[in-house]
Amino acid sequence: MNLEQRLNELTGKVFGKSIADCTDAQLYDAVLQLTKEEMAKKPVISGAKKVYYISMEFLIGKLLSNNLINLGIYEELSKVLAENGKSLAEIEEVEPEPSLGNGGLGRLAACFLDSIATLGLPGDGIGLNYHFGLFKQVFEDRIQKAEKNDWIEENSWLTKTGTSFEVAFGKKKVVSELYDIDVIGYENGLNKLHLFDIKSIDESLVKEGINFDKSAVDKNLTLFLYPDDSDEAGNLLRIYQEYFMVCNGAQLIIKEMKEKNQDLHQMDSHVAIQINDTHPTLVIPELIRILTTQEGFIMDEAIEVVSKTCAYTNHTILAEALEKWPLSYMEKVVPQLVPIIKELSDRIAKKYKDEKVQIIDKDNRVHMAHIDIHYGYSVNGVAAIHTDILKESELNHFYKLYPEKFNNKTNGITFRRWLLSCNRELAAFLTETIGDGFKKDADELEKLLEKINDQAVLDKIYEIKKHKKAELAAYVKEKEGIELDTNSIFDIQIKRLHEYKRQQMNALYIIHKYLEIKGGKKPTTPLTFIFGAKAAPAYVIAQDIIHLLLVLSEIINNDPQVSPYMKVVMVENYNVSYAEKLIPACDISEQISLASKEASGTGNMKFMLNGAVTLGTSDGANVEIHELVGDDNIYIFGKDSDTVIEHYAKADYVSKDYYDKSPVIKEAVDFIISKEALKVGHKENLERLYKELLNKDWFMTLLDLEDYIKVKDQAFADYENQQKWKKMMLTNIAKAGFFSSDRTIAEYNRDIWKLK
Ligand SMILES: *Cc1c(COP(=O)(O)O)cnc(C)c1O
Repeated sequence: MNLEQRLNELTGKVFGKSIADCTDAQLYDAVLQLTKEEMAKKPVISGAKKVYYISMEFLIGKLLSNNLINLGIYEELSKVLAENGKSLAEIEEVEPEPSLGNGGLGRLAACFLDSIATLGLPGDGIGLNYHFGLFKQVFEDRIQKAEKNDWIEENSWLTKTGTSFEVAFGKKKVVSELYDIDVIGYENGLNKLHLFDIKSIDESLVKEGINFDKSAVDKNLTLFLYPDDSDEAGNLLRIYQEYFMVCNGAQLIIKEMKEKNQDLHQMDSHVAIQINDTHPTLVIPELIRILTTQEGFIMDEAIEVVSKTCAYTNHTILAEALEKWPLSYMEKVVPQLVPIIKELSDRIAKKYKDEKVQIIDKDNRVHMAHIDIHYGYSVNGVAAIHTDILKESELNHFYKLYPEKFNNKTNGITFRRWLLSCNRELAAFLTETIGDGFKKDADELEKLLEKINDQAVLDKIYEIKKHKKAELAAYVKEKEGIELDTNSIFDIQIKRLHEYKRQQMNALYIIHKYLEIKGGKKPTTPLTFIFGAKAAPAYVIAQDIIHLLLVLSEIINNDPQVSPYMKVVMVENYNVSYAEKLIPACDISEQISLASKEASGTGNMKFMLNGAVTLGTSDGANVEIHELVGDDNIYIFGKDSDTVIEHYAKADYVSKDYYDKSPVIKEAVDFIISKEALKVGHKENLERLYKELLNKDWFMTLLDLEDYIKVKDQAFADYENQQKWKKMMLTNIAKAGFFSSDRTIAEYNRDIWKLK
């Protein structure tokens, strides 16, 4: 039977209808079923050694389109549906997006699973099955409100496995339940994402918004993902979740080893465990506990083999994000691990006197990263500059002890989702122009450089961008009720809301531009500023920045003198699906973090691949983008990381000085509490933000503001030279191959996992 016959049979059996008579929702169910059947025919990837990627977050996004592409049946199915008067793109809209991650870190884990399977490497993800995931963002009265994201449906990608384990929190025992999601490689076989849930979960605990009774762990443990992107709430529930994940993960790994008759004493030759940030750190003491109490290991043996199996990835140097749990919390949640943690800590204390490398510090806090570094065999940063900062400053004390453990793995993104799926037009044109080799070998994108003087190619890339801008404009009109000018420059900043990412600096630029236009200085080409960002509910200043952006949007879009020349949009509930619509439509990619603070960034890579030009600081992977495309194809501004690190060391940055010195800065900052702004916004939020910027400004917004304005204006001016701009677009696409997560994973495998 061909695809059409099979789909017709499915719709007939389930809904008693032919394809043409089904609703999109019914067709989604049928196509889901069909896709799962196709995936089940693929071989499971196997080998002598397997990697387990443990992560509290897997921001996988919708899966239908990706799975169809990786199966190689997207085009055929799309055609079948079209012939029956249906649109696959509209059917894709029906799928709910799971929100099992906060942002970049979780999205990275999802890209990695795709690449591991695509490279044919045996490797599974281990995480948690949050019922409501990260909150859904809604705006009420220009303030962010959080609602639950109810994504699990009767028919979904989740498969109930029947596997379940016991997890003890001291004397309290709970039972887990394992759900799997199949991960299909591009033209390759299957791995799995293992998501653990708790059997006794009670969804009815959620009363209003995302509030729930925090006391009964056995009923609430997997209800929500912690909404903190980098600030730790310090809540016990977080440790319950972390231990629940690693205890299940450790049991699963040992169970799979035993099923393959592998010797636990040789664990490191059969298994690699990649610890994604410090959240899964407890897997180290937990494995040691299981081996010594249940498998007859002596302590030395257990420590040795676990240390040769576990590798750690560091994602941030923000001090507030490095987990340090009071030992008393551990005693409360997992008393059985405390003797192991103390043993691990004692061994270090005997060997090294330096207070900075201890596991349990003077205040009885357990430093999770320190466990990973002492008792893991690899420590990696996620971009060249980030790894350098780890070695030279943040983790310098450890680097001196273990130089051989430190290595860099610059992040990457899967081109299946961030090009083939989200920008089918560009992918098709590239295939036509340089062949389809780039789909398996991303470096082949460089062939595009040979076409840099081919007018037809340049024009077509520009035309595709225009088309994606029109598609986005239609979507934004429908969702946000705002009309965009597709002839304007689309300048986009989408990422979690955090002061270090400096959305507030972009807001100050927008105020500056607004005042300029009011004063009669109009831009040649109209400007559209688009934001998307969720803020951790407890992060007050981040909420205030969202409020400011919504206030600016209201003022500017409704000012008849200004709105023909500029618009501001803050999209609601930015997530992977929205990113897939925004990124292909972007002209200028805003990557303006304070230098030294953004470990890598991956949004920057997605934009580049889709022909946007980066406006950014010398931070994270921007540095590597800059090296690849050269000075002429990127806009770099602001103080470098050495200067910033020195300001912190000397504590000599005073934001008020910059405000007093510069009338341009003063005017923009003052607008936040102007009559005009207060008419639309809330006094409390705007005044708090104003004071923060003037009196503290921990992430040095005003330090770079003048340079930002200058370089951004230059970028807008350059856009007027269409020919020049088209060449910049082409160069960015051509040089993006390095940022394929296939490259990143090949490096992890070569240097760390050594799977085959
Ligand atoms: C890629 C991605 C991120 C990471 O963006 P950065 O700009 O690197 O912080 C966050 N959220 C979503 C939904 C993404 O797709």
